[in-house]
Amino acid sequence: AGKVEFRDVHFAYDPARPILKGVSFDVPAGKTVAIVGPSGAGKSTISRLLFRFYDIQQGAILIDGQDIRDVTQESLRAAIGMVPQDTVLFNDTIAYNIRYGRTDASDEEVFKAAELAQIGPFIEHLPDGYKAMVGERGLKLSGGEKQRVAIARTILKAPPILMLDEATSALDTHTEQEIQAALDLVSRGRTTIVIAHRLSTVITADEIIVLKGGQIAERGTHLSLLRKD
Ligand code: ADP
Ligand code: ADP
Repeated sequence: AGKVEFRDVHFAYDPARPILKGVSFDVPAGKTVAIVGPSGAGKSTISRLLFRFYDIQQGAILIDGQDIRDVTQESLRAAIGMVPQDTVLFNDTIAYNIRYGRTDASDEEVFKAAELAQIGPFIEHLPDGYKAMVGERGLKLSGGEKQRVAIARTILKAPPILMLDEATSALDTHTEQEIQAALDLVSRGRTTIVIAHRLSTVITADEIIVLKGGQIAERGTHLSLLRKD
């Protein structure tokens, strides 16, 4: 389960300025599609539309053949996991932040997810580093660490569909590689849409879609797109 289809999707925030002008692509269940393109091309808009933060003006978005307009906001959120570029955390423990959305999860499950995302040692800390239980002051979580919290939350949620907004932000190479490895782990076996900023990070995607001027300018595997250059 988890097939995603965009069928001739047209969308504009402002009617005078169309952002997507007939975008169609399929993400078969369990496969990964990467969306690349210049800044402002509408990549993040695609993720917002999948969550139905906005309604499209023409076309359809389907999950497992069902129009998302016929799906409740609740089941839509249960079906899709999001690892955003900039994770905003609640001012509560990292454990609380990981558990958010899955309050039924046991401490052990939360801890396991934290370990997999390599955020285990922070579990009792607050995002600003204050260790609530012990009352000792720690380090403020870095951008990369916050993103790991989002990854741990997604591991725990285990949604069939995953939406990744790849970081462009100031992560050092080492952190970026670690995060990439954690993301690879979460996306295994799930339908994944990656909003990518560089072609080099999506080598393993089953399909890469190049968005330009509101339309799909090119599509193919990493290798086939490189050959065209
Ligand atoms: P990308 O992710 O490819 O950089 P976005 O999807 O964020 O592009 O944005 C596409 C275009 O839509 C941009 O020109 C942006 O300024 C505009 N845009 C994004 N969000 C809004 C909004 N809430 N209202 C109006 N215009 C927006
Ligand atoms: P809440 O359930 O508390 O209202 P949010 O509305 O912040 O939470 O987010 C619900 C889900 O949608 C989260 O997985 C979040 O990462 C994702 N999300 C929030 N804002 C956006 C956005 N602008 N684009 C794509 N996904 C988003």
